[in-house]
Amino acid sequence: MGEVFHGNFTQQEPLPEASLAAAEAVLRHGRLHRYNTAEGEIAETALLEEEFAASTGAAFCLAVASGGYALGCALRACGVVPGDRVLTNAFTLAPVPGAIAGIGAVPVFVGVTDGLTIDFDDLEAKLAQARVLLLSHMRGHICDMGRLMRLCDRAGVTVIEDCAHTMGAAWDGRPSGRWGRMGCFSTQTYKHLNSGEGGLLISDDADAMARAVLLSGSYMLYGRHRAAPPEEAFAQLRYEVPNISGRMDNLRAAILRPQLKALKRQAGRWNDRYRKVAEGLADVPGLTLPARPEAEQFVASSFQFLLLDWTNDAVAAVVADCAARGVELKWFGAAEPVGFTSRYDSWRYADADPLPGSDRVLAGLLDMRLPLTFSLDDCSLIGRIIRDVVTDVRGRA
Ligand SMILES: *Cc1c(COP(=O)(O)O)cnc(C)c1O
Repeated sequence: MGEVFHGNFTQQEPLPEASLAAAEAVLRHGRLHRYNTAEGEIAETALLEEEFAASTGAAFCLAVASGGYALGCALRACGVVPGDRVLTNAFTLAPVPGAIAGIGAVPVFVGVTDGLTIDFDDLEAKLAQARVLLLSHMRGHICDMGRLMRLCDRAGVTVIEDCAHTMGAAWDGRPSGRWGRMGCFSTQTYKHLNSGEGGLLISDDADAMARAVLLSGSYMLYGRHRAAPPEEAFAQLRYEVPNISGRMDNLRAAILRPQLKALKRQAGRWNDRYRKVAEGLADVPGLTLPARPEAEQFVASSFQFLLLDWTNDAVAAVVADCAARGVELKWFGAAEPVGFTSRYDSWRYADADPLPGSDRVLAGLLDMRLPLTFSLDDCSLIGRIIRDVVTDVRGRA
């Protein structure tokens, strides 16, 4: 059978010592709620918001309970109401169309290219159908953001970015999440910062962010934020915007702040691992690596490759043989949703018009996590195993 890998694809690194110490301090004083502060104290949550805003260059930041909450909150803050159609990527994960459906709006799926980014032709054809695009930078692949913003601006379509996989990434030097009206991030365990659950929302738009702060459940205590819009922005909205509680707490913020300081270094380590696997898979007949344009400064916490135009049986054989050798691949072409790999046509609450080009890409798309607990040697081994299996299955076909 050849070499076998014994690592665990879902094991993240332990949190840094500084996070443990910060968590202990919060637990000892007991003020976990973000608005429960002692005289003169600044809440960990408010400090995290200030630091995350500074790290992205955004004027405002709000910490919330999850990435999915951030998406729903951003949609509401940008004026989406029940019945509205919202454009979004066909290649994404369930919380994205779920956030749209969650506020009674209707997802309209836009196709994916073999570069794993949004299909601009399909987008142009659909722009007139909606006032908002919830753009998912799925698996960290970033489209040409300049072109996207020109298209959407011209059509009067507001862009909200789902940056669950692009925290710390950029297009053409401008951070992901800073192109659209709002950027939404997740700090769930499998993303780039780990607080178990959590989300961050950034924006330069005072009106949208004031709405988001009120929506998140600020009990009129928005004056205690450090990265929120000035009081005037709330003057009228405070009477109009409902409280849909989804705040972050001080414990999560406390463990995130030291991780945020290390984000750049961690991003470098992820990319080192990505490059090792990519080296191993260069020039494997039948296997395509998605293009990574020069302008895309990615953070590769996962790895994708394509077996374009292979039969379903052959792709399934690759998945099975890799699994037998310890390499866990997720297949976006499977007929039934398995784990996190659901397809746009498996979400039956939303009508999905056929997207043949996207079906071809998804049918051949394999995906794998790259946790930082893997060494560079592990990544070389994973590359060799995939290369062997793909070569072998192709030879048998
Ligand atoms: C994880 C994820 C989210 C939402 O994050 P949660 O914090 O789990 O709610 C949104 N979009 C994508 C693409 C994700 O992978």
